[in-house]
Amino acid sequence: MQQEPWDVIIVGGGSAGLSAALMLVRARRRVLVLDGGAPRNGVAAHMHGVLGRDGWSPLELLERGREEIARYGGVVRTSEVAAAGIVDANSGEPGFTVTLGTGEEHSARRLLVATGLRDELSALPGLREQWGRGAVVCPYCDGWEVRDRRIGVLATGPRSVHQVQLLRQWSPTVTFFLGGTDVAADDLAGILARGIEVERRAVDRVLADHAGTLRGIRLVDGAEVALDSIFLGPTFVPNDGLLVGLGAATGEGFGPGGGEWVGVDPMGRTSVAGLWAAGNVVNPGASVPGAAGAGNLAGAAINADLIEEEIRTALAT
Ligand SMILES: Cc1cc2nc3c(=O)[nH]c(=O)nc-3n(C[C@H](O)[C@H](O)[C@H](O)COP(=O)(O)OP(=O)(O)OC[C@H]3O[C@@H](n4cnc5c(N)ncnc54)[C@H](O)[C@@H]3O)c2cc1C
Repeated sequence: MQQEPWDVIIVGGGSAGLSAALMLVRARRRVLVLDGGAPRNGVAAHMHGVLGRDGWSPLELLERGREEIARYGGVVRTSEVAAAGIVDANSGEPGFTVTLGTGEEHSARRLLVATGLRDELSALPGLREQWGRGAVVCPYCDGWEVRDRRIGVLATGPRSVHQVQLLRQWSPTVTFFLGGTDVAADDLAGILARGIEVERRAVDRVLADHAGTLRGIRLVDGAEVALDSIFLGPTFVPNDGLLVGLGAATGEGFGPGGGEWVGVDPMGRTSVAGLWAAGNVVNPGASVPGAAGAGNLAGAAINADLIEEEIRTALAT
């Protein structure tokens, strides 16, 4: 392990964190990536809409990324970060410590948090078992694979109207399971006008065959609807405990409800000097290329920020 403090510690080694790391190690920065090893799309066998890597395994992409970073001398470790703190460096320049679950501590001049988000699913029986396979969230990621097949959309809130209308683009056979969710009359009219079936009976459980492949949905009255795919909108919960604990302000975030998510500028800078964030932790809409792009920008911006510090130091000596 190299001498502390590191130039940059990156918490989270998904697309966002590793892309930032790649920029920084190529800029000859000493970088430590600490990653819990549970990327959001790790449940999916394939990823799509990723230019040049369409259909790849998400885990294989990240493994390649780790190798690329190691090639430039960066260090990527599988470790969970339990806490982070601000170092009083006396010099007035930013500094951070991170503490691993084991109690081990590391310090750095800059900190990037790229810890992603959690998809919170409802307790509907059979749903969790299908997550990432028969039940998914993103039409652009998984719509093509079920084009012209039987698609069900579970209404989970106002955004479900947009989701069901999107999915009609991929298939003429779409059923919208309202399950008690209120839909405005004009939205409902638009849904019916495009030939989308509306099911008002509550859903009882998600059905699978003996091999675990999605079979359909059972309604409360026992009726079954055969389906090839289910789309839904889970609740997105950012893994932003470290950011909030360090005092990063919320309010300008990209998240649904905006104000509850940590805000960053277009380069990933938070309200705390020296603290950066990228990817799903601050933007639930970031796909793999979106998260990688945000990490790439943050990596370049962090390097520029370190250079600013180095100019100040050079002028003072
Ligand atoms: C089922 C599903 C399928 C998807 N399919 C696609 C697709 O086909 N194409 C596409 O472009 N996008 C897809 N996505 C979206 C994709 O998962 C995200 O865009 C991407 O994972 C965001 O990258 P990220 O780096 O922000 O976060 P993540 O990839 O989630 O990485 C965050 C990392 O931070 C780590 N971490 C969290 N907390 C800590 C901590 N305290 N200490 C250390 N490490 C920590 C986690 O273990 C994880 O490895 C899919 C999402 C889902 C749910």
